[in-house]
Parts: sequence; C-alpha cells; structure tokens
Amino acid sequence: MIIDGKKIAEELRDKIKKDIKELAIDKRPGLTVILIGEHPASQIYVKNKEKFAKEVGINSNVLKFNESISESELKKEINKLNNNSAVHGILVQLPLPEHINQKDIIETINPDKDVDGFHPINVGNLSSGNDAMVPCTPLGCYYMIKKVIKDLSGLNAVVVGRSNINGKPMTQLLLRENCTVTIVHSKTKNIEKICKNADLIIAAVGKAHMIQNDWVKDTAVIIDVGINRVKIDGKNKIVGDVDFQNIKDRVKGVSPVPGGVGPMTIACLLENTMKAFKKISVKNN
Ligand code: NDP
Repeated sequence: MIIDGKKIAEELRDKIKKDIKELAIDKRPGLTVILIGEHPASQIYVKNKEKFAKEVGINSNVLKFNESISESELKKEINKLNNNSAVHGILVQLPLPEHINQKDIIETINPDKDVDGFHPINVGNLSSGNDAMVPCTPLGCYYMIKKVIKDLSGLNAVVVGRSNINGKPMTQLLLRENCTVTIVHSKTKNIEKICKNADLIIAAVGKAHMIQNDWVKDTAVIIDVGINRVKIDGKNKIVGDVDFQNIKDRVKGVSPVPGGVGPMTIACLLENTMKAFKKISVKNN
C-alpha cells in the first residue's frame, strides 16, 4: 500500500477549513512566517505555507528581512508578534544566517505561538506526555502511520535519524503510543539488522535510497521523511531515504517522495496554527 500523504493532507486541510468557517466572521487564526535572506528552498517552502494557509482561511503573512538583520532586531520583531493579538502562530523559517543564534531566536517565540514546536517548553511538554505543540513533520508522519495501523501498542519502531526537528519528537510520539522505539544514527552499528526487525520504520536521514529492499520485512510500514536532490538519467529529481520503487509492492505500507510527508508537514503547520488560536482564545476569555 502506498501511503498517500497528498490525500491525507487534503483531508486534514478540509477539516481545518471547515472549523475556521464555523468561527465568528471577525475571528480568524493568524500565522506570520519570518523569512530571512534568499535561501532558494526556504523561499519555496514559505510560498507553499502561505498558499495553503490562505486556502483554509488562516490570515497569513510573510515578514521578509535582509540577510544582514541583527539578532537583536530580529528578537524585537518576534516580540512585536508575541504581543500582537491577531497573530496566533509564529514561524521563523530555518536555516538562519550564521551570525544569528538559532536557539536564542526559538526561545524568544511565545511557546503558545510556537507552531513549529521547537521551543524548549514544547519539547519538554511533549517528552513529559503533556499537551504540547508538536513539530509539524513528525506530527504528519504520525497521522500517516495511524491511517494504516490503528493500534501501535507493542510494535517495534525504528527511527532513523535523531535530529531535534524529526527523529527525537517522532520517538516521543511513538513512545506515547506504546511502541518499543529504537533510534539509530550515524554512529549506530548494524542498522540493516535493526531495520529487519522493525514493524515500523521512520527514515529521516537525508541519504538517498539508504533504506533498501532487503532491509525491511514484508509486514513493515515505512514513512520516508528524506528529501534528496539527485540526478537520474541526467535529470534533477527529488527522492527519499527509502528505495521506494523496489519496496512499494512488497511491504504493508510505504510513503512516496514527493507526495508523502512534505504535504503533511504543511497541513500540520495549519493544524498547529488552529490549535494555537484555540488555546490563546481560551486564555484571553
Ligand atoms: P539532520 O541532518 O539534522 O539529521 C540527520 C540524522 O541522520 C542525524 O541524526 C544523523 O546522525 C543521521 N544520519 C546521517 N547519516 C546517517 C547514516 N549513514 N546512518 C544513520 N544515520 C545517519 O536532518 P533532518 O532531521 O533535518 O532531516 C532529515 C531529512 O529529512 C533531510 O533529507 C531533510 O531534507 C528531510 N526533511 C523533510 C521534511 C519534510 O517536510 N518532508 C522536513 C524536514 C526535513 P548523527 O546525529 O549521528 O549525525
């Protein structure tokens, strides 16, 4: 089975759109994305985020700054958004220029408006099992997995990659569902053997086709987070971390790249904005 992220994302966006339509006419969730510099991939990601936010009825805008903006100026801009009651979600598009400390910037965002789920308060709440803003990509993976397997309890899950944005929050979500989770990374020995025992594999590495056909069992469900730009037959293509073509007809479920986790990440950003809107509205009443 091919796990169609595009379709699942569309369903999620439709639900958000419906929820927003039911709000009073003067009440709309607001999302502001901060974009610094001319990073080409970031420009595309931000454009898509804005497009889909508008489509579901979120008041979305992008604040663009020159690469030379100082850290203190950027913090001032974030604080203005923290204090703006029409803004419920703030997202600072990464990566940032080298002279800006990413950690300090993330910590400047009001945790209630942190729709990326990267603020330490949200990270801590997720790992403590409390209500938290969950990072969009692992949240999207989680929804895709739940479409294929309703009860994850007792499954052997392998998360390939341990980044703060993907591998670590993914692990927390799977633990919450009572999976037995193994995280593997660049220093892990025998990854192939560990994957062969997995019921569930989430690959978030950034290495084209690393997870091969003979690494996975027939009953496995595999979610491919990777985005790798490669040349195939002289053409530029985007492929995942999984050897999708050779795996797809054999395993229980696998997500494609493109058309898998990518659209889910954006849909989950919209969901997090709605969640922030609801939380802030309750606090203000
Ligand atoms: P990072 O580079 O931050 O992390 C990669 C992880 O993979 C690290 O933990 C690293 O280990 C591990 N790793 C690297 N090489 C190997 C190897 N040979 N064997 C096992 N593990 C290895 O990447 P991100 O988490 O930010 O992104 C991962 C991929 O997901 C990228 O392709 C990125 O483009 C994509 N992505 C896709 C998104 C989407 O919406 N679809 C969103 C975000 C990212 P170590 O910690 O030891 O260095």
